Amino acid sequence: MALAPYACSDSLSRGRVYAEPSPQYRDAFMRDRDRIVHCGAFRRLEYKTQVFINHEGDMYRTRLTHSLEVAQIGRTVCRILALNEDLIEAITLAHDLGHTPFGHAGQDALNACMQDYGGFEHNLQSLRVVDTLEERYADFPGLNLTFETREGILKHCNLEKAAALGELGERFLTGRQASLEGQVANLVDAIAYNNHDVDDGLRAGLLTPTQLSEVELFADAWEEVRHRYPDLAERRAIHEVTRRIINRQVVDLVEQTRRNLIAAMPSSPDEVRALNQPLVAFSAEMQAQHHSLKQFLRTNLYRHYRVHRMTSKAKRVLHELFDLFFEDPQLMPNQYQERCRDQEARNGRAGKARVVADYIAGMTDRYAFSEYHKLFTPPAMP
Ligand code: MG
Repeated sequence: MALAPYACSDSLSRGRVYAEPSPQYRDAFMRDRDRIVHCGAFRRLEYKTQVFINHEGDMYRTRLTHSLEVAQIGRTVCRILALNEDLIEAITLAHDLGHTPFGHAGQDALNACMQDYGGFEHNLQSLRVVDTLEERYADFPGLNLTFETREGILKHCNLEKAAALGELGERFLTGRQASLEGQVANLVDAIAYNNHDVDDGLRAGLLTPTQLSEVELFADAWEEVRHRYPDLAERRAIHEVTRRIINRQVVDLVEQTRRNLIAAMPSSPDEVRALNQPLVAFSAEMQAQHHSLKQFLRTNLYRHYRVHRMTSKAKRVLHELFDLFFEDPQLMPNQYQERCRDQEARNGRAGKARVVADYIAGMTDRYAFSEYHKLFTPPAMP
């Protein structure tokens, strides 16, 4: 299908940091997506989590299944709007590569450990993974992705960090926008995680349908399903509800974005970037409903005492690992020790801390627990 004039395209790409010949039979964004799928950080997403810790059960979402859900919803939206599907796939599959083990709790813990050394932010870390940490290619560090994929990965960024990122950070300093594909990635991420957190929360018994009925989006769909299928088993009814909510949100997003596109009439991706508002958006009504679902999850799921018990343990593990490696970098594998010496020589303690943060952020949930166990737990006495 032909791309709209405001879609990103291979021929208009701003290119890669290290110039490379074009691939045969693929375009630049297909190559980006393939590089992402083949990288080590992508495989580790399988054992990283969002809300529930990986060993809690095999049915919960992991960062990998989350990324696949985001990519799939993103492709649907881009196909309807004649945007670039290969680009959104690359952005969405890479968007969580920088996540720490143990989901939100891990991010908070590592950020606290790094507070005197520039902080830790998973979104910037995703960019760091694709720009420098993946060491696979002979001719360049990282995956050498296109500007457009990197632009989409970097959803938000504080001004100080943005200033250090050159062309990529510019839009945060000037109040401009990402491409439409980048904007879609941002919202379909939220559609995916709100709905799968509802599903996982119900499955875990931390939420109940009655409780969720205080959220309008859920209540409307629940009533419709219960009315139409009064005898349906609860598990199936829940799935019928979440698929309806996802569909309603996607349809609303597409229709509102279409209206915004007609009003703004951008004729190129650069005209989209130059606007002072994003064009990809929910209607005001859906935005409010989406927000109330998010608030509900924050209060009732993310702060649930059983979730808190998991996250409290996860935070202690990451804090203790950080302090130990920072005091004694010789406990890390050789390549991290080398980088640590190098970075400490260049940037002092902040350089050393960054390498420790990179090592910890790259761990999966189970690897972090296993490192902790090896380094802190004495063997059982006979
Ligand atoms: Mg995400």
